[in-house]
Parts: sequence; C-alpha cells; structure tokens
Amino acid sequence: MNIIDLHCDVLLKLWEAKGALRYADAPALQANKARLQQGQIKVQCFAIFIEPDIPSDQKFHAALGQIDYFYKEVLAGNPDMVHIKEWSDFDRLKIGQIGAMLTLEGVDPIGNDITKLAALYHLGVRSVGLTWNFANLAADGAEEPRGAGLTSFGRQIVQQNNQYQILTDVSHLSERSFWDVIEIAKYPIASHSNARSLCNHPRNLTDEQAKEMFNRGGMIHVVYHSPFVKEGGTAEISDLIKHIDHFCSLGGVKQIGLGSDFDGTSHLVKNLGDASKCQNLINELLKYYTEDEVKGFASQNFLDHRPGVKQ
Ligand SMILES: [Zn+2]
Repeated sequence: MNIIDLHCDVLLKLWEAKGALRYADAPALQANKARLQQGQIKVQCFAIFIEPDIPSDQKFHAALGQIDYFYKEVLAGNPDMVHIKEWSDFDRLKIGQIGAMLTLEGVDPIGNDITKLAALYHLGVRSVGLTWNFANLAADGAEEPRGAGLTSFGRQIVQQNNQYQILTDVSHLSERSFWDVIEIAKYPIASHSNARSLCNHPRNLTDEQAKEMFNRGGMIHVVYHSPFVKEGGTAEISDLIKHIDHFCSLGGVKQIGLGSDFDGTSHLVKNLGDASKCQNLINELLKYYTEDEVKGFASQNFLDHRPGVKQ
C-alpha cells in the first residue's frame, strides 16, 4: 500500500556528508531511494533542518546547501524521483515514480527576513514549521523553558504561508505557540508528533491540541521515534498503533497520517528501523482497521486535506 511520509532528515545527512553519500542506495540513509521503493513510499517529504550550533549568519547559506543536495543528489541523480512543487502534482505521479517534497523545520535560517522565506517557497518548500525545539525570532519551541508563543514576525510568517497555500507545521512548537498558530493558520499540520496522554513528552500533542487540529481540518502524522511512542525502552509497532487508536478516539480517523522521522533518529520503533520496513506497520494496521481506513492513514487522508482540495 502506497505511503506518503511527511518527515525525514535525509537532507541534513547528505549535507553533512559533503557529497560522500549516494541518495540512491547509501546504507547510511534510512530513507534512501531503494528503501523507499521497498517500503512503498509514494511521496517522501525532505526537511531542511539547520542544527542550532550553526552560527546565525551561516544558517541561510546552510539551508541553500541542503536544497542544493535535494536538487543535485535526490532529484538529478534519480529520474524516478519527481519534485512535488504544486499540490496537484500528487495526482500526476505515475507508477514507479516517487514524489519528493521540500519542507522547512524551523525558520531560523531566514533570520528576520520574510523575503528569504518567499524565496524558499519558490525553490519548492511547501510546509513550514516555525521552530525546532528552542526559541527563534518567530516563536518558542517545545523545549524552550520560557514557553512563550508567537512573535509578531511569527504571525507574519503564518499569514504569508496562508497566502501562498503553504502548510504551517505545529510539530516542535511550545504549547503557547501552538495555540497562537492554530488561531490563524489556514493549513495546519503536525508532520511528526504523537499523543501526549500515551507518552508524556513535550514534543507530543495533548488531547485538547489534537481535538483542535481535527476541528480545524488539520492532519496529525504519527512519528516512529521511539521516545515519542513509549516512555522507556524501545517501542513496538503495537505501541505506535495505540497512538493511532487514541487519535481515532478523539475523532481523527480521517485526519491521521504518517511522519517517520527517518534519518533524524537512530532510536526507531522495532521492525520499523528504516523506510524499507514501512509495510510492517501497514500489515499490522490492517488487522485492526478496514482497508479504507488504513489507506487513509497511509496517504489518502493527507491527499484529502492538502491545500487547494475542497472538503
Ligand atoms: Zn523534528
């Protein structure tokens, strides 16, 4: 069954390796192309993520560097990888092709310059998360002790996302930032977050947050990073399915998707250690849910809720 995966950190690894990794089949990449093919990933989102220790004045340059690897290593090296630039491109993928979409995890690279963000849209970024774990000029992240919300610059970014029909990603936001964003974001998404009531981690969403996401037509994509699935020890696929069950119990059966976090963690759910294993999750889900529901989680729910599609 085809899968749309809303989050991986392949670009960070390609950029850090400075050309030493081949995207097609490098064993060091959990979401390399060969593994996407084996796992039936139909669309993979590629996050631009700049580590906090990169000096501020080099962050935008680093973001462009990761985009360069997206174009020259992911796309140019692999004619069967197709760049998703518009929301309608999902409908044009042919058998054997894999869609690749750029996302931004934290707006730190743009500093205080919103024009740089518009430039990133033009290069293909279709989903923007305001923060990683800490604070920046837009908002506070989930692990920033201050726990503040959106700045006026952050608000301007969400409004610009709305105007360009770009997703605004709430994964990684502080609770206060989440509530500020959800008030104004037309296209909210949680690209890689689980349920906090099952696994008490600040990166996970409370039931109130999840319900508000569902009320507002947003998607929640569950993440395979074990510490967000289960407290202590390595999580199993059955533990991950409990998060899906829980979000369903909150009314989200048609608004749940998948967001692996491949290449952003080495601590993944057992039997879900790289993209080639993704059908293990699908097969397990098919024991408890109808084929239509599982197809929804795997891809259709996202397709139904992407910007520009009438609900
Ligand atoms: Zn992340």
